[in-house]
Amino acid sequence: MIRTLIKDTPSKTGQKVIVYGWVDSIRSHGKIAFIDLRDVTGVIQLVDLKGNFSKNLGNEFVVRAEGKIANRPEKLKNPKLKTGQIELVIENLVVVSESLEPPFPIDSEGYEINEESRTKFRYLDIRRKRIRNNLITRSKVTNFIRNYLSGKGFYEIETPILTKTTPEGARDFIVPSRLQKGKFYALPQSPQQYKQLLMVAGLERYFQIARCFRDEDPRHDRAYGEFTQLDVEMSFVSQDDILQLTENLFTALIGEIFPDKCITESPWPRIPHKTAKSIYGSDRPDLRKDKKDRNELAFAWIIDFPLFNKQTKEDFFHGAGKSKFAPSHHMFTAPHPDDIKKLDQDPLKVRGLQHDLVLNGYEIGGGSIRIHDPKIQEKVFDLIGFTGEQKKQFTHLLTAFKYGVPPHGGIAPGIDRFLMVILGEPSVREVMAFPSLSSGTISVMDAPSPVEPDQLKELAIKVEKD
Ligand code: ASP
Repeated sequence: MIRTLIKDTPSKTGQKVIVYGWVDSIRSHGKIAFIDLRDVTGVIQLVDLKGNFSKNLGNEFVVRAEGKIANRPEKLKNPKLKTGQIELVIENLVVVSESLEPPFPIDSEGYEINEESRTKFRYLDIRRKRIRNNLITRSKVTNFIRNYLSGKGFYEIETPILTKTTPEGARDFIVPSRLQKGKFYALPQSPQQYKQLLMVAGLERYFQIARCFRDEDPRHDRAYGEFTQLDVEMSFVSQDDILQLTENLFTALIGEIFPDKCITESPWPRIPHKTAKSIYGSDRPDLRKDKKDRNELAFAWIIDFPLFNKQTKEDFFHGAGKSKFAPSHHMFTAPHPDDIKKLDQDPLKVRGLQHDLVLNGYEIGGGSIRIHDPKIQEKVFDLIGFTGEQKKQFTHLLTAFKYGVPPHGGIAPGIDRFLMVILGEPSVREVMAFPSLSSGTISVMDAPSPVEPDQLKELAIKVEKD
């Protein structure tokens, strides 16, 4: 006999089946005992008529149970459960593997439990319904995106994880090279330059569910170290095309996966940066009509950002050159065509073709039309104070732009942040399978960890103790 998934048991009344799963709870009523058994598809009540099978069972044991599916007596039907009309009367039960008592309850929402312990035993934390459902929803969301964009003529293309450090905005993670001692790879802060090179390569419509790495302090809406974004780039498009595609994608996605949610205003309002600042005092305003309503989604676009901000010490540290200006989005964003002259006269007055996507007060994505004229790109490098040496780090891009570059632009909505907002979670960690702690520790694996002296020797690296 083959295994029956718990979700399929209600259609098997009167039949003998085998189910596998984890013991969710055991309730003894004198001689008779009830076991709730859980698999990834649901929970079923097992009836142990003589109480023999449940004697040596514990919570979270993995078992194989065999028996007949019977209708529950009328009084014992549970309309809240998908399998609430039926139960399995055990004829045979085998313990496949035992479990220690879990270090914390997994039948609660889990918010009350210490985060360190939840992260350390994440595989148990994921057994809790809320986290399991979050991860399943996440999988549905990425699947939907893949199908939607593939249907619109986009190609999913992977770009390297081992790449080069370039001053792009955040602090890089670096990886030592063994073959070229003293040289380092960097993990990509985003696939930005690769996706632009793919446009030069003529692929026209690219997307990737991309992992990005930034060594920045964590916040509730930004995990430490790595996050996932839907990275998109298109050729021969206007800013309006990018906004429209994103809007259509998310509207279709919400209709399919979150049918209970309602979007406050469609088409999504497009608000110039200056207006947002003056009316709402923020460039990511929360435009919900009723902030207590869990089902309301207020999307908005913020456009007409200034191309540059005044440079701060932080910008300099993260790789901008020494100058009065720092890119407000990133250095590949195109200036507004009407403002090109101001690049020489008054750079802070130049608007950029940048767009930010805002949802319920969170910035959930950003993008822009890119510079595709190598002369303008060099000018922007000069304005943000790049030295000749720093400019050399972008030779690949400037050279590529000499071989027939299409006008292009794109966007990168954050998957973790979008899910955090739409699922009403207080932190992005609640929608990630194995998040790190704020100390940067990936607890379940106890990373980062020291390496063997031989590994360091091979890389010609000496670690200074402080
Ligand atoms: N690469 C940008 C980012 O990660 C997004 C974009 O401009 O497409 O913020």
